[in-house]
Amino acid sequence: MPDTIHLLPDHIANQIAAGEVIQRPASAVKELLENAVDAGATEIKLLVNDAGKALIQVIDNGKGMSATDAQNAFARHATSKISTIEDLFQIRTMGFRGEALASIAAVAQVSLKTRRATDEVGTLVDIENSKVTATSSVASPIGTSISMKNLFFNVPARRNFLKSNSAELKHIIEEFTRVALAFPEIYFSLSSNGQDVYHWEGGSFKQRAIQVLGNAYQSKLVTVGEKTDYLTITGFVGKPDTAKKTRSDQYFFVNRRFIKSAYLHHAVANAFEGLISKENFPSYLLYIDVDPAQVDINVHPTKQEIKFEDDKIIYAFVQAAVRHALAQFSVAPSLDFSLDANIQQLDAIQKPFTEDQLNNTTRQSLYEGFSKKNQAHLISRSENASKQDWKSFFTDIPSANDTNQDTVNESYIVKASSMGLYKEGSPLDIEENASLLQLHQTYIVAPSHSGAIIIHQQLAHERVLYEKFQKASVQPHATQKSLFPVVLELSVSDAILLEDIMEDLAMIGYEIEPFGQNSFIIQGIPADIISGNEKNAIELLLEQFKHFSGDLKFSKREKLIRCMARQMAIKAGQTLTHKEMHALIESLAACDIPTITASGAPTYVEFKEDYLDGLFTK
Ligand code: ADP
Ligand code: MG
Repeated sequence: MPDTIHLLPDHIANQIAAGEVIQRPASAVKELLENAVDAGATEIKLLVNDAGKALIQVIDNGKGMSATDAQNAFARHATSKISTIEDLFQIRTMGFRGEALASIAAVAQVSLKTRRATDEVGTLVDIENSKVTATSSVASPIGTSISMKNLFFNVPARRNFLKSNSAELKHIIEEFTRVALAFPEIYFSLSSNGQDVYHWEGGSFKQRAIQVLGNAYQSKLVTVGEKTDYLTITGFVGKPDTAKKTRSDQYFFVNRRFIKSAYLHHAVANAFEGLISKENFPSYLLYIDVDPAQVDINVHPTKQEIKFEDDKIIYAFVQAAVRHALAQFSVAPSLDFSLDANIQQLDAIQKPFTEDQLNNTTRQSLYEGFSKKNQAHLISRSENASKQDWKSFFTDIPSANDTNQDTVNESYIVKASSMGLYKEGSPLDIEENASLLQLHQTYIVAPSHSGAIIIHQQLAHERVLYEKFQKASVQPHATQKSLFPVVLELSVSDAILLEDIMEDLAMIGYEIEPFGQNSFIIQGIPADIISGNEKNAIELLLEQFKHFSGDLKFSKREKLIRCMARQMAIKAGQTLTHKEMHALIESLAACDIPTITASGAPTYVEFKEDYLDGLFTK
């Protein structure tokens, strides 16, 4: 038998490797923009045709390349940015792996034109399928222009995976914006199919923030600024009234690199606690600068996630800095913390807890760790905060069918009932005419055959809806056409998300159609929902869905169903009529698993008669 292992030819190896770095036009845009930044450009122009599918071109006025470098740049692992592994931890450039140009040359038709200030003439290199097809000397302005045509022309499977032009353009704009926010001193422009989309003059961080977020933010940004030897945090948070239902305009940069971090997001959200309601999200642009030795940027193929040497310190700092800013600008005049002067004291920063404490601090108990008194960077949380959370959690969306307050009294009437009257079986087998009591507009107290049960109205309803939607996966749920279709305008990223789950939404009764750029029109909603709040509901749904999206153990549909159930459940705080309470208990009893919600919270508890008796024995 002949041997079967052989080395892949270069162009195939490169194509495979390119899959990691270049997933879509936007990833190429990111790499090319970052190269221009690394080259010290003060002006960077991005041109795309057909959302980058036909053409992506980046023109910079940076330092350019020599004729030899211009060819070598396309070799795999060819970089001018690091030479030893130690360099990895001193990185001040955006790139360092030497993979981008090699990847791009493997999956597009690339043409490079470049000239250094010291050279008379520039160099042209054409490359396709990882093979140089032409080189020559050409007249060229100082700097570099790279154009890549027909992305994935030689990998049809990948090309087929690309989304619609509007979706891909949204991704491009997202990457473009992130780089532009990180380097406000650089002029950036973007044109698409020959049309000007943005041109942003170089300026301060604040000016760039306004260029990106819009003029409305002029008076809406609170400056954040904390400097210590260990790290520096600067940037802006939106005043509480700019908080949105959806998670857009949230940016973290670490050493000028845009990163995604749910963990640090949590720190900011915590700092806003009590200032904005739970279903809203603060906008922020925060720039963290630390010694590069404190971060590992080499943990993610597109470098959007990084690892901090000690992320708990960063967390504490972010939270403290944001709180501090909000307090200083008297957005939150009465915040209870006292770290102002102390935050500068490095002792507290470098050694915030004893070793033991540090080890004990898991993600869940993070808050406790940070709320120990007498530690400089710690913030105490107001006593009633948890209660507030609880309340706001349950009052999610104002629902259109809030019942009239007048009915409250009716449900407070308790009738003495004898236990003997009730059927044997599930504790949820409640006599049809049994008296029910709604407590605090949250709990339903019902006599069961062997004692009493207390049902949590929201959680119970969540279970009912969950099973209903689950069954809808087999047979689509009925839709009611909206009389007045509602238009939904979303951020770029939310629009993509919505497109992604549209089919599943249709399954459970939502009829949503694209309606121009980033806009959608809601034509119909699930038949048994009360209309009037569609817009809010979808926004909230997207938000909850995002929270879930990291959770790989659930399918998209499962996540959606869970979100929907949670969202559409009647809320605690809502008065129910006697009939409604009975109906709820009946549908809960009919569930396959009536005892808990999909996420495992109990829907009701039962107090057995013996137990009740026991409470009253001397
Ligand atoms: P990396 O950025 O990780 O070094 P790339 O493949 O993106 O890898 O680029 C390879 C090399 O090509 C860079 O290290 C740099 O020397 C050179 N280069 C790429 N783009 C430019 C540019 N716009 N201007 C000057 N040099 C560039
Ligand atoms: Mg690069």
